Amino acid sequence: MPNKFDAIVIGAGQAGPPLANRLATSGMKVAFAERKLFGGTCVNTGCTPTKTMVASAYAAHVARRGADYGFNISGDVTVDMQKVKARKDQIVNKSSSSVESWLGDNKNITVFKGHARFVSPKEVEVDGNRLTADKFFINAGGRARVPDMPGVDQIPYLTNSSMMEVDFLPRHLVVVGGSYIGLEFGQMFRRFGSEVTIIEMGSRLIGREDPDVSAEVRKILENEGVHLRLDAKCISFRKEGDKIAAGVDCQDGDREVLGSHVLLAVGRVPNTDDLGLDKAGVTVDKQGYIIVDDQLRTNVPGIWAIGDCNGKGAFTHTAYNDYEIVTANLLDNDPRRVTDRIPTYGLFIDPPLGRAGMTEAEAVATGRKILIGKRAMTRVSRAIEKGETQGFMKVLVDADSKEILGAAVLGPGGDEAIHCVLDVMYTKKPYTVIQRAVHIHPTVAELIPTILGELQPLESAQVKGAA
Ligand SMILES: Cc1cc2nc3c(=O)[nH]c(=O)nc-3n(C[C@H](O)[C@H](O)[C@H](O)COP(=O)(O)OP(=O)(O)OC[C@H]3O[C@@H](n4cnc5c(N)ncnc54)[C@H](O)[C@@H]3O)c2cc1C
Repeated sequence: MPNKFDAIVIGAGQAGPPLANRLATSGMKVAFAERKLFGGTCVNTGCTPTKTMVASAYAAHVARRGADYGFNISGDVTVDMQKVKARKDQIVNKSSSSVESWLGDNKNITVFKGHARFVSPKEVEVDGNRLTADKFFINAGGRARVPDMPGVDQIPYLTNSSMMEVDFLPRHLVVVGGSYIGLEFGQMFRRFGSEVTIIEMGSRLIGREDPDVSAEVRKILENEGVHLRLDAKCISFRKEGDKIAAGVDCQDGDREVLGSHVLLAVGRVPNTDDLGLDKAGVTVDKQGYIIVDDQLRTNVPGIWAIGDCNGKGAFTHTAYNDYEIVTANLLDNDPRRVTDRIPTYGLFIDPPLGRAGMTEAEAVATGRKILIGKRAMTRVSRAIEKGETQGFMKVLVDADSKEILGAAVLGPGGDEAIHCVLDVMYTKKPYTVIQRAVHIHPTVAELIPTILGELQPLESAQVKGAA
């Protein structure tokens, strides 16, 4: 006889645990299935460990710059990777075990440790147990994509998951992929002391961002000695003794990069290929993402998909928001929708990039008249005082409606400062609201009202090179 529950949640990522808790607190009998690490990618192999390691790398970087701030460190600054990893492990383990105990402590939740697969639209099997329910919530997340590049199966490679076990300094880390994950690892290991080469197929880093953002990020990394190989069209690999040769058919430079280790950071794939979705009749798109509507319902009544596996977001905050949307609709009679969400995210290199809403390219593509305000960090007191003047910030506004369309803050505290723009965007009020706000001095965010008072039409701002 299958065990009968009111709801079954698959995957302890960023949406599943709070959802299970809310359902259980509302009186439902909930089964929870997790096959590996409680807290999922973010806690174990994503946000938490990388930002913990970024903090170690930042400390080493500042120590090396001691002379700029008027203090001396005798001798070279070297990094003990075992201690960096131990610090990371301690923070990660605490967070992961608190998710596990949070679920386990709820008397209405039964936790099953094992891989869950649908056997029918109303039944899953986990670790030899057959569980049935009327409601299913899939929070299966994703994993690193291993690209089909020639020779990739002939070499040992690292992904964001196996990087978590690295307790030594790679002599030369070759990072394949010049996007968010690759750049964070690349700068971090450069600061730990590795030689780092980032190989990117596109003609610029973080190709989804505006060219000025990509160019400034490139400068930041190159200033620290990170090697970049852009336009790398045909990437291939082969072993050469104890090294790995990465073939790069680039416009400039050598045809091969010889490294000691290779990190693949070329995107993610959803964990939907081994869920028995065909048995449940749940449809996926060409990339394997579960197709959902604006309330995160799949095509099968009673089955929802939340978090990265639905392809509607790729962040912890979007996964968490999915939980909020589902519970609002299901329990609170509040018709929240995915399309209410404004895109926002950070790139946690140093200085960080905070982004909200549209890029310039996206804003222009809407056909509206666009105003832009822009300021280099060299003209921001706080950045000057901190000795961290790389980067800039810019805000895009619809000239007619005065609505803020998007913003990028690349500079010290950019990941925090962006929220003052984001919050006004959510109010749908005109930019003049924030332009008249009095912000704290000295902060990076205090200049956002200032640049909103200096808006120019986008084209003429570009011609004058407003940065
Ligand atoms: C290196 C890196 C850095 C990142 N940094 C950030 C950041 O700074 N900020 C940010 O917002 N996002 C960041 N992300 C993205 C973020 O980690 C993800 O968006 C987030 O974890 C998605 O959460 P999720 O709930 O969808 O799934 P996940 O966190 O991936 O969790 C899914 C869970 O489901 C389990 N599971 C899968 N299939 C089954 C099954 N069949 N049965 C049982 N259990 C199953 C998995 O074991 C896993 O525990 C980063 C990602 C990476 C890789």
